[in-house]
Amino acid sequence: MNLEKIMNDLEKKHPGELEYLQAVREVLESLEEVVSQNPQFEAAGIIERIVEPDRALMFKVPWVDDNGKVHVNLGYRVQFNNAIGPYKGGLRFHPSVNLSILKFLGFEQIFKNSLTTLPMGGGKGGSDFDPKGKSDAEIMRFCQSFMLELWKLIGPETDVPAGDIGVGGKEIGYMFGMYKKLTREHVGVLTGKGINWGGSLIRPEATGFGAVYFAQEMLATKNTDFKGKTVAVSGFGNVAWGAISKVNQLGGKVVTISGPDGYIYDPDGISGEKIDYMLELRASNQDIVKPYSYEFTGAQFVQGKRPWEVKCDVALPCATQNELGKEDAEMLVKNGCICVAEGANMPTTPEGVEVFKKHKILFGPGKAVNAGGVATSGLEMTQNSMKLSWSREEVDARLHQIMKDIHTACVRHGKQDDGYVDYVKGANIAGFLKVANAMLDQGVI
Ligand code: NDP
Repeated sequence: MNLEKIMNDLEKKHPGELEYLQAVREVLESLEEVVSQNPQFEAAGIIERIVEPDRALMFKVPWVDDNGKVHVNLGYRVQFNNAIGPYKGGLRFHPSVNLSILKFLGFEQIFKNSLTTLPMGGGKGGSDFDPKGKSDAEIMRFCQSFMLELWKLIGPETDVPAGDIGVGGKEIGYMFGMYKKLTREHVGVLTGKGINWGGSLIRPEATGFGAVYFAQEMLATKNTDFKGKTVAVSGFGNVAWGAISKVNQLGGKVVTISGPDGYIYDPDGISGEKIDYMLELRASNQDIVKPYSYEFTGAQFVQGKRPWEVKCDVALPCATQNELGKEDAEMLVKNGCICVAEGANMPTTPEGVEVFKKHKILFGPGKAVNAGGVATSGLEMTQNSMKLSWSREEVDARLHQIMKDIHTACVRHGKQDDGYVDYVKGANIAGFLKVANAMLDQGVI
């Protein structure tokens, strides 16, 4: 495979799509060896085909605010690859959303979904709509307008969206309501649904739980666990919440959460009523975590900075892409951090990843670490198809086993001669092989 030629061609075709090009390069770098060992992939143009989405659709989303003012946002759905199952991936509502970010997320989703071993292809979508500061009625009207276009593209056997940044249970509910009205069908077309109307237990906390289960497996390779460990977490959204809850259950102490404006350092640990307060902050649509430091003595708000300067044993970036750079990585290593597991998608920059690899730190990439969310969405789809609901324990046990299996697959494909596990390489190869072989079987389409 001529990586530089492929990247040059892609850069010419998609100038300025930085996040997408970054994600493609990161994956292809780890696939060079496996592609050269399997000439059939090159002969069938697998790489050239897998890096382009099957289709990327864009539509306008007009809506009216509470004052009667008309707004127009952009909506997207990127259907990347359905070789092993229907397109599957979340919807993100955030002002930063553009085609590059959704193509990066959709591309990553192909390999992540493959790693779960469940039959799900890769896709992603969303809008540059900002739910911050909007009333419930405004969010409902936006979601309904968004679905007026999206419903034509999705279906339980075609494409099954879920939540992501800015899209939680409330938004999924409003979108599902409109889909149902338009199609007159009550089907599993979205995941992350309410528990009374087709949702799965454990889905809300699954991504964070799964991330910690994965980190637990990584720590076990060094004969250690979360007990007594100090953990730095970024974000205070859905993924951060699940991860913090599970770290507490396993005996670790979480000392940070963060928002776009800065981070909270709470040396006493974030647990119990503090997590409830964090959820309250979230629900009130506030864009800063600062109020936490007024509520709990001992906690400190550090304006304009990221939590990676805090001394910790384990770091769990759970906010957004490119939030942990080279200097942050160097600081973590200097302060004795032994394990970094990405709850978010691509939170570490390529330069940051290099630092972790150079120092042989346990480093788990998002597509493996946070796959528990989509895996549990897959379990939600299974329950919908069978028209039954599994207990909390059953879903959690399945999630836990899936995360252990993903870890095993990463070790199988990522173990280096000196024993160091390159989880990035392991996850990319394990995820790729299944999809590539399916594409081979299905011909050039
Ligand atoms: P939420 O919207 O629930 O939370 C996102 C958190 O990140 C919030 O605390 C938010 O703060 C913060 N954040 C968002 N943008 C920025 C930014 N530019 N700078 C700093 N902080 C920021 O999203 P999720 O928890 O669902 O998602 C977090 C990450 O996990 C994303 O990368 C997502 O793709 C990934 N992921 C999510 C899954 C899921 O099941 N939800 C599944 C797999 C991956 P604020 O609200 O103040 O902006």
